[in-house]
Amino acid sequence: MKVLIVGGGGREHALAWKCAQSRRVDHVFVAPGNAGTALEPNTSNVPIAADDLNALLEFALREKVDLTVVGPEGPLVAGIVDRFAAAGCACFGPSRAAARLEGSKAFTKDFLQRHRIPTAGYAAFTAENFDPSFIRAQRLPLVVKADGLAAGKGVVICESHESAIGAASGMLGGSFGAAGNTVVIEEFLHGEEVSFIVVAGGGHVLPLATSQDHKRRDDGDRGPNTGGMGAYSPAPLVTPELHARIMREVIEPTLHGLRRDGTPYTGFLYAGLMIAGDGTPHVLEYNCRFGDPETQPILMRLQSDLIDLCGAALGGSLDRCEATWDSRAALGVIMAAGGYPEGYRTGDAITGLDAAARLPGKIFHAGTRASGSQILTAGGRVLCAVGRGASVAAAQHEAYELVHAIHWHSVHYRRDIGYRAIARERAARRS
Ligand code: AMP
Repeated sequence: MKVLIVGGGGREHALAWKCAQSRRVDHVFVAPGNAGTALEPNTSNVPIAADDLNALLEFALREKVDLTVVGPEGPLVAGIVDRFAAAGCACFGPSRAAARLEGSKAFTKDFLQRHRIPTAGYAAFTAENFDPSFIRAQRLPLVVKADGLAAGKGVVICESHESAIGAASGMLGGSFGAAGNTVVIEEFLHGEEVSFIVVAGGGHVLPLATSQDHKRRDDGDRGPNTGGMGAYSPAPLVTPELHARIMREVIEPTLHGLRRDGTPYTGFLYAGLMIAGDGTPHVLEYNCRFGDPETQPILMRLQSDLIDLCGAALGGSLDRCEATWDSRAALGVIMAAGGYPEGYRTGDAITGLDAAARLPGKIFHAGTRASGSQILTAGGRVLCAVGRGASVAAAQHEAYELVHAIHWHSVHYRRDIGYRAIARERAARRS
């Protein structure tokens, strides 16, 4: 069978690598892919942008692609699944209507409130009804969010009322384009964040291994928010009791609510959760796709055939599936271009990839491109080095061995990915 992966980041490299291992798959295409996907066996890049739905569909029809798996949110929110379905092509992901769970934060907050799913208190405003006195009446800090897709940049945590009014006014004034036509003003939640990702379809759900990511750029979870600087799986914070609570209080009511609202969900569903001190899982956000960089460590641990899981979700037989996992932990460190997430340079030659390939673990590419025999940086997040081990600490050690083998001008990476989990492991050993 032929598979098409849509996207070109680290998540898509991991999806392509995993799909190519399926005994049912003959060839994997990646559109547009990166220098890493081009090197995987039985895999090739296709020069089509992830948001060019017409060209993607034309390619899938021409090549008789059996299954398309969509990495990023953009094409899902734009309706790629509906377009493919109308042409009789299997495409794994939510419909445009169900993808609103990521495409509109105001829609999601309203949905969560209607279905009594725990989330922070909020109000939504447009330029017409924006009321600064609402902000002045709230407790600090406050979280201001652009309603639409803003590539992970549309969330501002404000320590003063004036900065919150400034952030909201800026968004409503067009600083995020149409994504900021509506703003959500949200109560700040304290706790620890967890990523909870499931495969859903046909009225059934299969939870994937738990994970946690680090969104801030610098060590100690400081500095600006990014797309993610590293992630690990499993998340020791998620005990079997908390796992059951998340399924019961968040995932099941969400999927049930979507069905009741006439927009049943198929695809990967990612809940970004804040676990409060009393253990209540609050939804911070939904993503209508796999996380990046959570995909990389999660798929390093998945022993089951991913194509089987996607097929079961599409065919309504997910209730008869079980995912099997490598019991080892996996941890991924993002290697970024200096300056990311703001301005950064591209075109630097990456050295040490061959040495890294001889070490245990795996390097997934993100912003890379080939130029002759060299591989050059071509994006903000460049590589994700994933290690495995009997503990998160051991997986961290293996991941940093890979990181230390690789160099380019002004590379930036965090040196502490997984520190919370490692502290938890140490505390558990002491008790
Ligand atoms: P989002 O895209 O909504 O997940 O927001 C990005 C990041 O902002 C989250 O991963 C959190 O670290 C932070 N954040 C968002 N909403 C809140 C909130 N209500 N309270 C505390 N932190 C938040």
